[in-house]
Amino acid sequence: MSKYVYFFGNGEADGHGGLKNLLGGKGANLAEMTRLGLPVPAGFTISTEACVAYFKGGGHPDGLKDEVEAALSRLETVMGRPFGDATSPLLVSVRSGARVSMPGMMDTVLNLGLNETNVEGLSREANDGRFAWDSYRRFIQMYSNVVLGVDHDRFEHALDGLKKARGVDVDTALTADDFRGLVDTYKGIVHDATGQPFASDPKAQMWGAINAVFDSWNNDRAIAYRKMEGISADWGTAVNVQAMVFGNMGDDCATGVAFTRDPSTGSRRFFGEYLCHAQGEDVVAGMRPPLPINGDSPDTLESIMPDVYGQLDDLRHRLENHYKDMQDIEFTVEKGRLWMLQTRTGKRTAAAALQIAVDMVNEELIDRKTAVLRVMPEQIRALLHPRLDPDAPKTIIAKGLGASPGAANGQLVFDAETAVEWVEDGKKVILMRPETSPEDIAGMAAAEGIVTARGGATSHAAVVARGMGKTCVAGCSDLLIDEHARTVQVGGLTLNEGDVVTLEGAEGWVIQGAVATIDPELGDDFGIMMGWTDEYRRLKVRTNADTPEDSEVARGFGAEGIGLCRTEHMFFEGERITAVREMILSDSVDQRRLALAKLLPMQQGDFVGIFRAMKGLPVTIRLLDPPLHEFLPAHGDDVSSLAETMGLSSSELNNRIEMLRELNPMLGHRGCRLAITYPEIYEMQVEAIIGAACSLVRDEGFSLVPEIMIPLVSVSDELAILEKLTRETADRVIAESGVTMDYLVGTMIEFPRACLTAGDIAPHADFFSFGTNDLTQTTFGLSRDDSGKFLPEYIERGILPNDPFGSMDKGVAELVQMACDRGRAAKSGLKLGICGEHGGDPASVAICHRIGLDYVSCSPYRVPVARMAAAHVALGESTN
Ligand code: PEP
Ligand code: MG
Repeated sequence: MSKYVYFFGNGEADGHGGLKNLLGGKGANLAEMTRLGLPVPAGFTISTEACVAYFKGGGHPDGLKDEVEAALSRLETVMGRPFGDATSPLLVSVRSGARVSMPGMMDTVLNLGLNETNVEGLSREANDGRFAWDSYRRFIQMYSNVVLGVDHDRFEHALDGLKKARGVDVDTALTADDFRGLVDTYKGIVHDATGQPFASDPKAQMWGAINAVFDSWNNDRAIAYRKMEGISADWGTAVNVQAMVFGNMGDDCATGVAFTRDPSTGSRRFFGEYLCHAQGEDVVAGMRPPLPINGDSPDTLESIMPDVYGQLDDLRHRLENHYKDMQDIEFTVEKGRLWMLQTRTGKRTAAAALQIAVDMVNEELIDRKTAVLRVMPEQIRALLHPRLDPDAPKTIIAKGLGASPGAANGQLVFDAETAVEWVEDGKKVILMRPETSPEDIAGMAAAEGIVTARGGATSHAAVVARGMGKTCVAGCSDLLIDEHARTVQVGGLTLNEGDVVTLEGAEGWVIQGAVATIDPELGDDFGIMMGWTDEYRRLKVRTNADTPEDSEVARGFGAEGIGLCRTEHMFFEGERITAVREMILSDSVDQRRLALAKLLPMQQGDFVGIFRAMKGLPVTIRLLDPPLHEFLPAHGDDVSSLAETMGLSSSELNNRIEMLRELNPMLGHRGCRLAITYPEIYEMQVEAIIGAACSLVRDEGFSLVPEIMIPLVSVSDELAILEKLTRETADRVIAESGVTMDYLVGTMIEFPRACLTAGDIAPHADFFSFGTNDLTQTTFGLSRDDSGKFLPEYIERGILPNDPFGSMDKGVAELVQMACDRGRAAKSGLKLGICGEHGGDPASVAICHRIGLDYVSCSPYRVPVARMAAAHVALGESTN
């Protein structure tokens, strides 16, 4: 029969840290900490297998009840108290704990085992009636909310009413009798809501809580979180039943959370917050401002309980040496005695992830491969986030805690639903909440930044925003938020929903209006880490850039070449659009050649700039791709001035414009099809590219192999014709300039037909570059420009796992694989790359690695992200 229950306590544990899948992260770590000899209150973990069996069989699996009973008596023995005893009761907490941390997603019940009889016993034992009755009322509130589904607000309302009646602001000002009265009120609320009296039997309470934790695996919050994080619904949660220790039994008691290093910056300082005379929930909820555990202020844990702080600091080092990573710990001090309630890998900002990984290599705690795997590609993206322009004027209207760095601006919204709706409408929003809870996750994910009026550096908002890499200002108590009226008052100013604010998440500023942001400067650690990624990746990383400026930025980020230079973007610059229009609207080859001759020197100058910026690295230049009418004048004024330049009447010109119109331009006369009918366009572009390269080779000593790319091929003869044209033109220009230079001619693969017939196309190409934007569009028959109307619903309903224009679809990946196989079979040494948007998406980069591409190409700011993703997939393979 299966074993479902794993005991820990007194230095011994049935489980260990390696059993995360079975015991959940929390349970495995409690077992591991116990084995390490850390002061952990004893308890037992009900395995995730029991949860899975519970859902499968519609109830407790065979044997679970007996195992739990046995573990409970062992717990009673270890703690020296009977569970729920009348005079000296053992109380327990019941908490969820999945395989991976899902902060705040599932439910917890504390102080379980209390009832109207043993509350008196607890009161006598603690010599503190106030504490005992407060514990009991907290228990009723939590249990009723989590297990019985009674609205939390009803209890809060009663508590607020009582405080008002007593004329006090804080719970700590209430007396034992106040709480005793509140217990009666709470029980009334429960009876009213459920029609049943509140359960007195501790064992019935325990089973109610265990079942509720199992059930919480499938609550809405947990489902939403799983979806966002890609966590399987089949894993189930473990349940941890653990002896209670109390941080609220007097002034020699405390509770806190700490990180073994600073989770914002990654520095080696011990960082945490605590509250005297409080339960853990008080710190997390941020109802009382928590105090720093160390530092300059007079009321730190270090100054108030130096012994406890010393022990904690010692444990911090032991934990890091053992787990080889930064830990997030929860502790409680009961009557001067330190207890560890939890340790887990600490969530951290991108900057901290980088700093910690590099530091830990230097401290010889981890090796370089581990360090690379510790920094997620998405975190690299966050590191490249902008910051406020220091010279831009700004009006700081409030200051909170800098909870997650970065700078963001957007329109104020006061609830998560509005955040999601407005973002769907194309707006940028800042989500402002009194405090956040797991219900706000979707809104937080949609927002540019998050600001809360309550909560500290370890509050829900701070922890979650950091994990998401979002700017967050927390605990900004100057904000008087009226959620109902959708306004906030701050320092005499009233802001309404829709007003623009800017957040600065390191300083904790809320700023009125939109403030300009500038790109981040990356410190030495960034370069060191990126250097390590290069040791492990196989894929090369190029960039998509059309200007010398972008090329330089990309090279700074480590781009190993340009994978796509879209020449059409150059056509819009300055005066040249007039020549482009003349070229398009010419009605004879001679007239077109005249217009092209005007463009030639301009294009050549562009290419000189780009080749120079790339300093001899490979540069792939794509010949003209979009339908011609995209360049046509839209306004009457432009038409008449162009008509004058071309010596035509406006109506003649309008007729020509009309002739160019297409019903479906994306599938019309574009890409290589333009050059089949108007070869002189590509001829001019090839002349400009090769001319530019030759001049650099001849005059500046460059060594260059330009790569000329023909877009949108679907028939091999298209490429055969245009390859010939390209080679003839290039060879002529090279001969005329008297240099020796190689060049490559390749094609984009953007249509399913091109993938299917890649074997016919390859003999005419030196390289393939997959244009997965168009390939996705044509594989699905899904318009790139119109998919936004319905795609979100497809994703929402799980019809598609994600936006196929952002992350490569598996059908598209199949086509790419087929084209690679067929292309390489027909031509050995065929170079293969990708230049669609997918080239900068970590999941797609992994697919490209597996398919066996030579390189990915992406926008400059995604180059480091792609480098990291390429290292991760290569390391993943080598460690599997
Ligand atoms: C593509 O289709 O993937 C591509 C890179 O070309 P464009 O986006 O310019 O159509
Ligand atoms: Mg394309």
